Amino acid sequence: MYAEVAVNLPPVRGTFHYHLPPDLEARLQPGHLVIVSFGQQRVQGVVLRLLEQAEVPETKPVLELVEDAPVLTATQLALARWISQTSLTPLIECLTLMVPPGLAQRADTEYRLTAAETPAKTEAEARLVGLLARRGPLRGRQIDRLLPRQEWRRSAEHLVRRGGLQRTPVLDPPKVRPKRVRNARLAQPPHETLPPELALGRPGSAAEARRRRMLEVLVREREPVETFWLYAESGGTLADLHALEERGLVVLSEAEVWRDPLAGISFVAAQAPQLTSDQTAAWERILPHLDRVPGSAPLPVLLHGVTGSGKTEIYLRAVEATLAAGRQAIVLVPEIALTPQTVRRFLARFPGQVGLIHSQLSSGERYDTWRRCRQGALPVVVGPRSALFVPLPSIGLIVVDECHDESYKEQATAPRYHGRETAMAYARLLGAACILGSATPDLDTYFKAAAQQLELVTLPQRILGHRRVLDAQRRRLGAGGRYKPAEADAEYADLPPVTLVDMRKELREGNTSLFSRDLIRALHATLDAQQQAILFLNRRGTATHMFCRDCGWVLRCPRCDVPMAYHSQPGEARCHRCGYRRSTAKVCPNCGGDRVRHFGAGTQQVQAEVERLFPRAQTLRWDRDTAHAPEQHLVILDHFIDHRADVLVGTQMIAKGLDLPLVTLVGVVLADTGLNLPDFRAAERTFQVLSQVAGRAGRSPLGGRVILQTYQPEHYALQAAARHDYAGFYRQELEKRRDLGYPPYRRLVRLVYAHTSSQAAERAAIEMGRRLQARLQAAGGSTELIGPAPCFFERVGGRYRWQVILRGQRPLDALQGPLPEGWQIDVDPVSLL
Ligand code: ADP
Ligand code: ZN
Ligand code: ZN
Repeated sequence: MYAEVAVNLPPVRGTFHYHLPPDLEARLQPGHLVIVSFGQQRVQGVVLRLLEQAEVPETKPVLELVEDAPVLTATQLALARWISQTSLTPLIECLTLMVPPGLAQRADTEYRLTAAETPAKTEAEARLVGLLARRGPLRGRQIDRLLPRQEWRRSAEHLVRRGGLQRTPVLDPPKVRPKRVRNARLAQPPHETLPPELALGRPGSAAEARRRRMLEVLVREREPVETFWLYAESGGTLADLHALEERGLVVLSEAEVWRDPLAGISFVAAQAPQLTSDQTAAWERILPHLDRVPGSAPLPVLLHGVTGSGKTEIYLRAVEATLAAGRQAIVLVPEIALTPQTVRRFLARFPGQVGLIHSQLSSGERYDTWRRCRQGALPVVVGPRSALFVPLPSIGLIVVDECHDESYKEQATAPRYHGRETAMAYARLLGAACILGSATPDLDTYFKAAAQQLELVTLPQRILGHRRVLDAQRRRLGAGGRYKPAEADAEYADLPPVTLVDMRKELREGNTSLFSRDLIRALHATLDAQQQAILFLNRRGTATHMFCRDCGWVLRCPRCDVPMAYHSQPGEARCHRCGYRRSTAKVCPNCGGDRVRHFGAGTQQVQAEVERLFPRAQTLRWDRDTAHAPEQHLVILDHFIDHRADVLVGTQMIAKGLDLPLVTLVGVVLADTGLNLPDFRAAERTFQVLSQVAGRAGRSPLGGRVILQTYQPEHYALQAAARHDYAGFYRQELEKRRDLGYPPYRRLVRLVYAHTSSQAAERAAIEMGRRLQARLQAAGGSTELIGPAPCFFERVGGRYRWQVILRGQRPLDALQGPLPEGWQIDVDPVSLL
């Protein structure tokens, strides 16, 4: 028997044939993670398939298994192939996505004697046995340092065959070892008191006293006690415990504990509400998708529902139905830290059954979650795109919440796959249901739904929620409060009215403040009514850049060449691409003038302006500078939900699905930032973020309103956002895309080359452009070349970036074979910046 193995050695990108040693013949399966030799190295690889015949005359053996069970399922292997083909990335890099964290690191083997008296037949064997008897179990790499490598490995083979030595594949310690705690308990059922004649050591010695105290703790506790605690209470040590163990008084054991990333998150178990009539109609369309018909995959569902229309409730139902059928569900969210409310709703509905995956898990937590999922102990997995690759035994459902979100697309490293597209492909391979949900579906997805490649299900109305929160508010406000309770359990609410305010007019009429007179009035009214406001700042593309009022020179990051943002505290300039900081410029290096000023507004200025205008208002700022870790996001959010602040000032991150009952005003400080970036998705992105942020207002019986401040009130994306008109935006944007030849009408492939020398980058790009042009002409298709040109963000991290873009119906055809070293490829990029 032979195995085809994809070898994980970065410059090697192929698959190779290995033969199976007899002990593996019966055990090896596709998906096994194995160790093979490659040249002189031992490397990891993934078994792709088993073969009767090798295609090469001479093969090396598969050396060992990293884990007893296959690490990848057959469907995961198929998915990796799909990702490899669609993203033009070597297969092994796609397989590596699915190899659990930690396992993909260096693997080793642990050797352990099976009996104390293992007979050795040679001197070399005796050396190995002696070492293991003295030191206890050791890993291969440790033994390598102590005994001649060739020799001890040969001895080990023989000893294993004779049954004297046990060999276990282990992972690189210590990060991803299962976490274990050592417990101690009494060997005999606990007595009330210890017999005084018990010999615990030399009578009267300190050791004897310590050991006695240890036993006393164990008698008192009656249950196994963690050893650290025993030491803490008794002053004893491991040696004392061993002494008690030798006397047959104490039994030591190890228990595995899970490192639980949820340990710090609080939630209250929740019941499902009755569905509204809209939800019932949607649910009846979705339910048939959850019935498994062997050999067929249902169409993915696009659940298009306005903000607050009850989409999450539908996901919860679908997960419930999936679990009831004995299968598991994956729920993708754009970013765990920014969607704490969604995450909590899953935890509350399925307590004890949810595994969370996020980027800030330690590798130990990740590994533990991975193993529990594989065992089927966590049938619901919630996380960002990488949660797709968690091994569940029988996946019945994949949900992609806020499916338009760009963070689903991997942009930084290969393979540059899209979580949404990959979810659909995976569901197809699994025969599982797939639900994509959004209030503002991306154009490509909606286009597919219109072409009936997806089933479109809509929730057209917003649900009025939060009666309980409002009862509390009414109690606080007294009988004069504005809230009137309604009869029915769920009702619908209007989306909040949106006012577009022309900031050019404000300036002409002498208002130079960041806030229009409309917004100031609305803030006053909101604060007077003891309600809450959100002020939103779209930071993408523009920041509070510093420029010279005399000549127009702009302060740029010396490494990235993008305008640096001014931060009033501590009065410095920062690059938001690479983190570079410097003091602010006093004198213009271009003209020598001293009128270098910052322009535009950051969250800090908005916050300062609120505090200046409304000294009694409590403000809270939520952006990447105030919060990094998931707990920090939660603290800020909870603080605001508890109404310990009146005004929340934030960036894009506050637009992601927050449900804040007391927010009755959303002010967008400048709606048009980002609108004029040289990118085909600029308008779409702006429309999406404005619709989402507007959706934060008026989610309760208190109602609400939105004020969008802009210098371009006539722009169709802003007009559509102000009317909550998805269909209108979609129509107009689609027309533009067709005229300009952009997706979804044509596909794009972006090739980027980065180099510390701008000339080198330019040369490489021009050379690539020439080669591709020649190939395109020879092929005679309709694919065209855009560029070569420097990227919009021309310098990133000290390297100059140039790009070449292929555009056409089948742009991948022009790219057969590996790219030259140094090129990055992005198929169907979400941004050309
Ligand atoms: P979306 O995911 O579309 O934003 P949600 O599922 O978060 O919508 O629902 C919006 C609000 O309505 C939430 O406060 C939710 O608890 C509430 N809600 C959803 N479905 C129902 C229902 N069937 N009955 C009562 N309240 C509901
Ligand atoms: Zn100047
Ligand atoms: Zn920079």
